[in-house]
Amino acid sequence: MEQADRWQQPYREAVEELDRRERQWRLTDELLRRIAGRLCIAARGLDAGLDGSLNEVISTLRRPAEAEPLEALLSGLTQSVAALDRDTALVAPPAANDGLRLRQSLKRILEHLAELPDAQPRAAALSGRLDAESADVLAEIAVGTADLAQAQIATLQRARQEADRLLLQFSERLEDIARHLRNESEEHSNAQIEQRAFGQQLLGHTQALVDQTRSASDLGQLQEQVYRHLTAIDQRVREHRSREETRAVAYKERTEALYERIESLENQTRSLTRSVNKLERQASTDGLTRVPNRAAYDKRIAAELQQYKRDQRPRCIAAIDIDHFKTINDRYGHQAGDKVLQMLAQHWSRRLRDCDFFGRYGGEEFVMLLDNSNEQQALLLANKLRQSVEKLGFHFRQQPVSVTISCGITGFREGDTPQALFERADRALYEAKRNGRNRCCVEV
Ligand code: GH3
Ligand code: MG
Ligand code: MG
Repeated sequence: MEQADRWQQPYREAVEELDRRERQWRLTDELLRRIAGRLCIAARGLDAGLDGSLNEVISTLRRPAEAEPLEALLSGLTQSVAALDRDTALVAPPAANDGLRLRQSLKRILEHLAELPDAQPRAAALSGRLDAESADVLAEIAVGTADLAQAQIATLQRARQEADRLLLQFSERLEDIARHLRNESEEHSNAQIEQRAFGQQLLGHTQALVDQTRSASDLGQLQEQVYRHLTAIDQRVREHRSREETRAVAYKERTEALYERIESLENQTRSLTRSVNKLERQASTDGLTRVPNRAAYDKRIAAELQQYKRDQRPRCIAAIDIDHFKTINDRYGHQAGDKVLQMLAQHWSRRLRDCDFFGRYGGEEFVMLLDNSNEQQALLLANKLRQSVEKLGFHFRQQPVSVTISCGITGFREGDTPQALFERADRALYEAKRNGRNRCCVEV
């Protein structure tokens, strides 16, 4: 190196360093301006006084920076914010976690709505957007939820009106039948009275005939008497037969009408039973995955715990949760997420025995109940199913979607309640997640 170069070197390096710093400052300045601009835009609309200051800040930020006007602006802005603080202090201060609370409430409402088969798809779509940060989106979800709830109330009201109509028809038919039976019993007593009178009349004629035969001295006269009584008897018998025939025809007509009513009542009962069964099935089936829902699980587990008290047969439950499901939704869309839920539910439930139970507990969580199995047997089966899910090879729009599950298992214990039992399974599930997911753990 030349002598001159050697002593110029430190200056050249210092200039280069200054250049680099200036570039950095320019970049930082640019970024800060942009951030400040965005913040001003976001804060606009709170208060007219503050809006004025914010607009000034925005236009100043667009010009090259000079300390003096910026200082003036800062003091104006500080005053506006202080005034705003004073005003808002009079009103209830907005809680910092309002958004969180609203989100939690909406989540709970949407979970309830998702249990109704008709509302399930819309409720799931709304739930899927709950993670959004924006207040506007949250407001949209709230409006959507309210609309959905309104629609469900209207549907329930229609179902109730239909049930009321059917019940009214039922009671009318039953009233018809009761009236018929009352008439029939009246007819029957009238017929008995007539029958008795007819018997008395015949008896009278026969008695007279016997008496007259005994006391007769004149054959001609006797013949005439006998003829008169026989004619009267014949007349009474004919009248009686004609009355009985009329009664039989009327009875047949009434009976046929009654049979028709009973038949129509039976048909209505059958169709009502079918719709009640369908409603019951719907109420206990998850609309999206077509497997039993949470309500069905609650019912089943209560019955199963009762039965366990009597027979002490080993039973287990497993809480099953899809791993990183949120990522699946985020990466491939909510529809893909729904498809995964459907396929997994069908895949899993088809591999169990009739005596077992598999249902959707909520969201991307499922629950399995294994009858006559201890924890080791349950773990073996759960691991087999977990591996089969991993190997399933889900695809959505020709893209492979990796799906794994984690699972927490626990056995029934003396004195268990549904809650205690599930909490244990959930703890085991948490353990499986903590240990790296795609595994099954047993709570011991
Ligand atoms: P981890 O492995 O810890 O379980 O992570 P995760 O992402 O699975 O769990 P997280 O609880 O963070 O996310 C669950 C997601 O499931 C959030 C929610 O939007 C989504 N979800 C719940 N119900 C449905 C549904 O019916 N359909 C779809 N597509 N997504 C749903
Ligand atoms: Mg979960
Ligand atoms: Mg999950």
